[in-house]
Amino acid sequence: MSRIAAAVFVALLAPTACSQEQNPGYTDTPVLPDGFRVHDAMRPRPPAVDPGPGPKVPTPAPKDAIVLFDGTNLDAWQGRKGAAEWKLVEDGAMEVSRTGDIRTRAEFGDCQLHIEWMAPKPKGHSQGRGNSGVFFCGRYEVQVLDSFQNPTYADGQAAAIYGQKPPYVNATRPPGQWNVYDIVFIAPRFAENGEVTSPARLTVIHNGIVAQLDEELLGPTAHKSLPKYRAHAPKGPIKLQDHGNPMRFRNIWVRPLNVERPKAAAKAK
Ligand code: MG
Repeated sequence: MSRIAAAVFVALLAPTACSQEQNPGYTDTPVLPDGFRVHDAMRPRPPAVDPGPGPKVPTPAPKDAIVLFDGTNLDAWQGRKGAAEWKLVEDGAMEVSRTGDIRTRAEFGDCQLHIEWMAPKPKGHSQGRGNSGVFFCGRYEVQVLDSFQNPTYADGQAAAIYGQKPPYVNATRPPGQWNVYDIVFIAPRFAENGEVTSPARLTVIHNGIVAQLDEELLGPTAHKSLPKYRAHAPKGPIKLQDHGNPMRFRNIWVRPLNVERPKAAAKAK
C-alpha cells in the first residue's frame, strides 16, 4: 500500500469529528421504534428534488373550504393574549413577528389543510434558519423549515413529522419562493380510559410531491424525547409556530373531513 493510500485508509477508519454545523442532530437521544434516534445525526437525509418554480399567485380555494387566511385580516386566528399580532405584509401574506404562536379560533379534527409558506433571505443554519411549523390539534407538528441547501437532522426538516418521520424527499423551494403544503390529518381516537385506539395520521404533499403518506404518529410532537399520547378532545386548533424567524404564510384554507362513508340501505330479499 502506498503512503497516500495508507493515509486515506487511516482517515476513513478514524472516527469523524463532526461539528453540529456539518452534521446537525443528536447521538444521545432516545431510540424510536424504527431504530433511529430522535433527531438522529446519523439518519440519512432525504434526497433533494426540484419541484419547479413556486406559484406566483395563490391557488384558489375550493368552494366548500373554510378560508383561514386570504391576506386581508387575521380574524380567524388568535395569539397568546387575544388577537393574533403577526404582521400583514404584501402579496396577501402574513409574517411571524416574534409575538408567539398563533392558533385558529375554530377547532378541527380530521381535515384537509392547504397552506403556502415562504422563507426569508437565509440567516443561520439548521433549525435556526427559517423555522416554523403547522400543528394539528395544537400538538402534532408538520415541520416548516427552510430546507433548501440547509442540512439539519432528517426528522426536523421541511415536511417532516417533527421528531418522528423524515419526508420521503426534500422538495423545498429556495428562499423567496412560495412552498405549498397540502396536508391530510386524521385525528387520533381514544378509549374512555384514555388509551389511544387509533393513532393520528398524516399525509403531506409538498409542492405537489408526496412527502408523507398516511403515516401513523407515535404521539404529540416532542423535542429530544419520545412522544407519548395523552387523551384529548376530538378537535383542536391549528397552530402556526413562532420560532423567531420572519417566515411568511398565505392562502390558508381547511376542509373538515368526514371519512365515514354512508352505508347502503339493507336490500329487501
Ligand atoms: Mg418548527
